[in-house]
Amino acid sequence: MVTLTIDGRKVQAEEGATILEVAEDNNIYIPTLCSNEAVKPYGACRLCLVEVTRGKRERLVASCLYEVEEGLVVKTNSERVASNRRMLMELLLARCPNNKKIQDLAHRLGVDGTSFELEDKQCILCALCVRTCAEVVGVSAISLVGRGTGRAMATPFYEPSDVCIGCGSCAYVCPTGAISFEDVGDTRYIKWPKNGMEFKLKKCKTCGRYWAPEKQLDYIIKKVNLAPDAFDNCPDCRD
Ligand code: SF4
Repeated sequence: MVTLTIDGRKVQAEEGATILEVAEDNNIYIPTLCSNEAVKPYGACRLCLVEVTRGKRERLVASCLYEVEEGLVVKTNSERVASNRRMLMELLLARCPNNKKIQDLAHRLGVDGTSFELEDKQCILCALCVRTCAEVVGVSAISLVGRGTGRAMATPFYEPSDVCIGCGSCAYVCPTGAISFEDVGDTRYIKWPKNGMEFKLKKCKTCGRYWAPEKQLDYIIKKVNLAPDAFDNCPDCRD
């Protein structure tokens, strides 16, 4: 265990934990959009920056990437942190001026406008969807492609992906709601910012409800070696 100070409070933490994890465990708020405990930290949104002091050296670091150390002093909301965070938030607000989640977070951080040129995007390129698809689902169907202003999250060449199973995990984790999915009749529609795909849903043998993408169920059957009829019934109709 190590002892560190966050915003004047002495806290203990496991070695190897990040500042963000320790702050969350101690109910100390640090804003973030791109972190999720299910995947490795990535440091994309930078909103979680904090000021750390070791000896005489003070610097700004991304708290999702920085591991705690004995004697570390952390300020989560110093004037230096707050002004840098407001500038980052202004950039995000300029990129996604019509996104409610970005607007709400900006407001919470005291940012109600932006001096940067406005775009009209929904995706902040945090790659949380990409990392979830690769690290949690295990298929790597999507990635960040292109450069500069053309950078986007998409399937390879914007074509339908052979490996996407239609699970919707990318939509669940998206912090801005830029990805969505909808089940209509026997079809699931996944919409990413630049393209989308359709998946046939499996019909429950007992109640007749369409309940999950066939491709996702086949994937699970193969991955954990279940009987081919393991998902013939929906969860409600299983014994
Ligand atoms: S729906 Fe496709 S892209 Fe999204 S997480 Fe599932 S497998 Fe990956």
